[in-house]
Amino acid sequence: MLNARIQAQNPEANLKSYDQVYNTFTWSDSLKSFTSQDEKRVNIVKEAIDRWADHPQKQDKPALIFEKNGSIRTYSFLDLKAISCRWANALINHGFRYGDRLFIFLPPCPEIYFTLLACARIGVVFCPLFASLGFDELEERINDAKPRAIITCPDMVENIPGDAIQSLTYLYFTNGPLPGIFHHEVLIREVARPFSTEFDTPLFDSKTPLYLLYTSGSTGPPKGVVHGHCDMVGHLITARYCLDLDEGSVLWTDCDPAWVTGTVYGAFAPWLCCAASLVLADPFSVSTCYRTLEFHKVSVWYNTPGTIAKLKESGEDLVHRYDFSSLKHVATVGEALIPELIYWFRQHFKITPHDTWWMTETGMICLSNFPSMDVKPGSMGKPVPGIEAAIIDENGNPLPPMTMGELAIKVPWPAMMTAIWQDEKRYRKYFRHKGWFLTGDVAIMNDEGYFYHQGRMDDMIKVDVKLVGPYEIERALRRHPSVSEAAVISRTIRPKKVFLKAFVTLHEGVTPCMRLKREIKSFVKADLSPEIDLKEITILDRMPKTRSGKLMRRSLRAMELGVSGI
Ligand code: ATP
Ligand code: MG
Repeated sequence: MLNARIQAQNPEANLKSYDQVYNTFTWSDSLKSFTSQDEKRVNIVKEAIDRWADHPQKQDKPALIFEKNGSIRTYSFLDLKAISCRWANALINHGFRYGDRLFIFLPPCPEIYFTLLACARIGVVFCPLFASLGFDELEERINDAKPRAIITCPDMVENIPGDAIQSLTYLYFTNGPLPGIFHHEVLIREVARPFSTEFDTPLFDSKTPLYLLYTSGSTGPPKGVVHGHCDMVGHLITARYCLDLDEGSVLWTDCDPAWVTGTVYGAFAPWLCCAASLVLADPFSVSTCYRTLEFHKVSVWYNTPGTIAKLKESGEDLVHRYDFSSLKHVATVGEALIPELIYWFRQHFKITPHDTWWMTETGMICLSNFPSMDVKPGSMGKPVPGIEAAIIDENGNPLPPMTMGELAIKVPWPAMMTAIWQDEKRYRKYFRHKGWFLTGDVAIMNDEGYFYHQGRMDDMIKVDVKLVGPYEIERALRRHPSVSEAAVISRTIRPKKVFLKAFVTLHEGVTPCMRLKREIKSFVKADLSPEIDLKEITILDRMPKTRSGKLMRRSLRAMELGVSGI
């Protein structure tokens, strides 16, 4: 499989020759694309919104297209400038100052985007939260970051712990009726109405915090990752090169705004290119997905392998009833894009989905398949221009091609996190080998420079003396005709003896039984290697997933050890 190759989709893409650009690229050159030429003094909102809003031919272009229940609201760059200036004035009037935090606890809605822009204007750190967060999770985050205010809506306010509310200065609502639980609860629209749509937006030191985001929590409890205004350089370059965005493109980033992908590529990255971001607030369904691509003439779609898997699972009838001729580029993130999904998608959409790799901490796509570069199915692609990636050993030494080790990125790059909120020790751990950021992911680089994800460091499995990534075993499991999803974990039972256990979900209509489990076990041995001895298979109705749709192995491990959480 390492040798399969799909011919490049578009030699005329923004990034025409990967090698040429990669070899000559400098981050300081890319600053020329911005209005501010001083890399030390920036404000992302000036580059993402104001420069287009102040341009007579561009100010009316759509920046945000929002759809819910069949109703569509479109905001131009000029609209977003006016609203966010008004909101910035209101926040200043409410005593907000540089460095304060504002939490966004809302279902997808335009107000999320107004808030993040208003905060960026005044140097307030915004923190988007998943609408499905529970009581304890909210309490933990509020105690950790101590926001000055939360913006929410009446349907969700009951999830916010009362004590935490009392610690706020304001509780903002996007709509009424106000619940009457806090003395400083106000309708943000009413508060902002009297204020001007002009605001003299300051430039900040480029490391000024822009947002604080708690990670998905796939491997452990989420941590508060802090990003700065200087991220804009990385947002713009990756939007152009990895997502192939241009002025006028319609990008649908089909990811929650509270996941880093939604924050970066659902807002700032397309706006820096003068492109529109489409936000769909309706629950997922395959037909809604196809209709959205057709109706909004989506040109670039950024989604997850999970979404493509759901499309594949739903069969081939629906997909041929829609017109996807506007779609010129598709990319995925979050989990490995398995070759089977690439081939299915190509067959029905006539274009190739391109896997990209990054993490909350990196702030931007770092490895990518580019539209002008051949795709090697199963690979995350190559480093983005300006990024140096390597596979390193436990002492921080780069390993030769085709050797498994930890994926590391040479520091610094513009969108690298600036801190872990109030946890300097945890922050420093990422940089324990001088000059490198350690990702915690295990990968292999082939001799052409393509990277292949093998799993997370914590998930690695030792079979005899060899380290095996769970990914390979999971892929073999998914090749079994009855298996839909699979996860493998291991536990050491005696020195050098591991107990391998698989969790699987089955395709619709397949009946779970002992015989099937035995059949799956021997299928993996025959398909992969006789050394891979799955001791146990548990059939689940549903895999535990994070809110961004990633497999939560720590829950499976906890289930296995009989504890409630790790
Ligand atoms: P936590 O750090 O709290 O456990 P998380 O790592 O899941 O949560 P994110 O920052 O959203 O939170 O996810 C980044 C991780 O997602 C990467 O470290 C990697 O393991 C995985 N990932 C991202 N893109 C890909 C990809 N293309 N292929 C495989 N894995 C990917
Ligand atoms: Mg992580």
